[in-house]
Amino acid sequence: MRKPIIAGNWKMFKTVSEAESFFTEVKGKAEVEGVESVICAPFTALPALVQAAKGTSIAIGAQNLHYEDNGAYTGEISGVMLKELGVKYVIIGHSERRAYFAESDAIVNKKIHAAFKHGLTPIVCVGEKLEEREAGQTKDVCKGQTEAAFEGLSAAQAAEVVIAYEPIWAIGTGKSSTAADAQDVIGYIRGIVAGLYGEATAEAVRIQYGGSVKPNNVAEYMGEADIDGALVGGASLEPASYIALVEGA
Ligand code: 13P
Repeated sequence: MRKPIIAGNWKMFKTVSEAESFFTEVKGKAEVEGVESVICAPFTALPALVQAAKGTSIAIGAQNLHYEDNGAYTGEISGVMLKELGVKYVIIGHSERRAYFAESDAIVNKKIHAAFKHGLTPIVCVGEKLEEREAGQTKDVCKGQTEAAFEGLSAAQAAEVVIAYEPIWAIGTGKSSTAADAQDVIGYIRGIVAGLYGEATAEAVRIQYGGSVKPNNVAEYMGEADIDGALVGGASLEPASYIALVEGA
C-alpha cells in the first residue's frame, strides 16, 4: 500500500521567522497517522525548520539542488549541504525552474541522481503547458519527461521517487484539473514506470497531483486509484489551510 504524501511547496515565500511561526501552528496538527506531511521551504528557512521538526512526523524538503557536490557554481546549493542539514526531500524539475531557469530534462535527471547519491528523496515534477494540452500532447509530454527523469536509475531507486504531475495551466490559476482527468494522466504515468521497471516498481511509486489543490478539493483527488497525494503551492502557506490539506488526505 502506498502511503499518501501531502507536500507544501512554499516557493519563494516566508522568512525564517515566518517559517518558525508557521511551524509552531501546524505542529501536532498537520500530523495525521498514515499520511506523510512534507514542507518544502526556501533554503534560508531549512535549518530552523529541520530543528523545529525534530520529534514530529513532519518532514522537511528543499525546492532545488545542484547536481555537483561542490565547485565554482555561484549561488547554488548541493545535495551534500542539504543532507548535512537533515533535509529529507527535494523537489526537482518544477515547471517554474524549467521555465525560468532553463532546466532541461537532462539537468533534471542529473539532479535526481545527485539526490539519491546523498540519500534525499526526489519529488520530480512533470506536466504539460496549456498549448500542449490543447494540441492533445499531454501524455506524450509526460512520457518524455518521465522517461528522461528515470534514465539510469535502478529499480530500487525508481520505487522511491515521488512524481508530481502538475499541469502548468493549473498552477496558481485556480483552474484545477478535474480529478478524473488527473487520474487519467497519472494512471498513464504509472504505466510508463511499469514499462520501464515492471509492475511491482510502478505499484510502489507515489504519484501526486499538483495545481490549485485546496482543502476543499484535495479529497476528490485522493479518491482516485492512482493519485497518492498532492504538491501544493498557495494553499500550503497558511497554517489552517495546510492542516486541512493533511487532514483531507
Ligand atoms: P498552486 O497550488 O499554487 O497552484 O501551485 C502548485 C505548485 O506549483 C506546487 O508545486
